[in-house]
Amino acid sequence: MARARLRSSFEIMIQFAPSRAAGLAQLDDFAPRAAGDYARTRNFDTGGHTNVSRLSPWLRHGLLTETEVITAAVRHHGPDLPEKFVTEVAWRLYFKGWLELRPGIWTAYKAERQAAWNDVQTQSGLRQRWEQACTGQTGIACFDHWAAELAQTGYLHNHARMWFASIWIFTLGLPWTLGADLFLRHLLDGDAASNTLSWRWVGGLHTQGKTYVATAENIARYTDGRFNPRDLAQVAPALDGPPLPAPRPCPVSDPFAPSRRSGLLLTDETLYPDPLLDRVLLPVTTATLQASAARSHLLVSDRVTQFSRAAITDCTTRLAGRLGPVTACTDTQTVVDWASAAQLEQVVMHHVPTGPAADMLAGLKEALAAQGIALSQQMRPIDQLAWPSATAGFFKFKRVLPDILAQAKFENLS
Ligand SMILES: Cc1cc2nc3c(=O)[nH]c(=O)nc-3n(C[C@H](O)[C@H](O)[C@H](O)COP(=O)(O)OP(=O)(O)OC[C@H]3O[C@@H](n4cnc5c(N)ncnc54)[C@H](O)[C@@H]3O)c2cc1C
Repeated sequence: MARARLRSSFEIMIQFAPSRAAGLAQLDDFAPRAAGDYARTRNFDTGGHTNVSRLSPWLRHGLLTETEVITAAVRHHGPDLPEKFVTEVAWRLYFKGWLELRPGIWTAYKAERQAAWNDVQTQSGLRQRWEQACTGQTGIACFDHWAAELAQTGYLHNHARMWFASIWIFTLGLPWTLGADLFLRHLLDGDAASNTLSWRWVGGLHTQGKTYVATAENIARYTDGRFNPRDLAQVAPALDGPPLPAPRPCPVSDPFAPSRRSGLLLTDETLYPDPLLDRVLLPVTTATLQASAARSHLLVSDRVTQFSRAAITDCTTRLAGRLGPVTACTDTQTVVDWASAAQLEQVVMHHVPTGPAADMLAGLKEALAAQGIALSQQMRPIDQLAWPSATAGFFKFKRVLPDILAQAKFENLS
């Protein structure tokens, strides 16, 4: 009964409407609180989450851009006061860039997840512990609460994500990849870069040797005493992993020929193609790719599937007059079929970051080329500015952040 009450209250607390208009409204509402209030209270998970922006589902699907949300905060408060908020948004840019420079980390994650999943299927004790953790029946009240909140809302506060991941790995002794997978299946903002690298960070694989330990005191303090867990692991030895790979060069935009007969390909990573359309592109037709199912080898939550689907529809409806006829594609072959049927000379799209959409479109360039069709992937300018600096730790990245933002502002980038 108590659990049922909790669950329905989650539903009331958080509404994420999958449209750009809803994201802009959320940004409008939050921007006045993006400076001192945010810096003072952002670490508290008191349930309602009004102390943080909750913009992540819109940022994840590219319905809003990082430049837009930073600009809104700076417009309200000036360049210095929302420093904490800007830094958090910069973590997103950093993680995206870091993974893009080392795509092998995503490949290794998927292989390790598969190995852990094989163990779950063959070891009944492990399977039982994994099921209890996923369904919030571990007996650790705070952990079980967050598992229910995740399933019921598709969102968790940042601090709850840190505590949850730490308890998953060090107290429950479960494989980190299966925790990351649980998050990807349920978080509306589930993102290959931010999620994989945050879990690796908690486990001591990102900042190698340095782990994050969830303590009862910290949880009690930052949940306003709602939880006071006992029996959490006191030590958190770093997980074993190979040395970090060296970064590859950052991708750059492909050449683009405006005179060619072009089609636009949209994925659920980047649903604000307006700058591309404004600057270079008059598509005769548009294709869409929903990649939410490829987040996991298991079934992704209905909430995530519906959010992604509706976010794509929002984009194609909003820009209906500029896209030509729209076709839903499901993989590389259906994209090639669409482009061939429309007699395209060129398919244009935003660069697809390492993750599920890029997995679904593996080999696209070569498959289109075999039909005499060029693929032109365009980097978002903010990514082109930020990603090359994601070569090492965040603090090195943060040092060059003011330059990146100054240039982004100067060039009025989205
Ligand atoms: C184990 C773990 C898993 C995570 N998985 C994801 C994920 O799949 N997708 C995701 O977007 N974030 C993830 N995060 C980062 C962070 O928790 C969320 O971005 C944040 O809680 C989203 O809520 P918000 O929009 O209210 O954040 P706010 O505090 O309002 O921050 C504003 C924006 O900045 C970005 N941001 C804030 N903190 C971080 C951070 N630590 N790392 C990267 N970006 C950040 C987000 O885009 C966020 O919307 C994870 C963190 C941890 C510890």
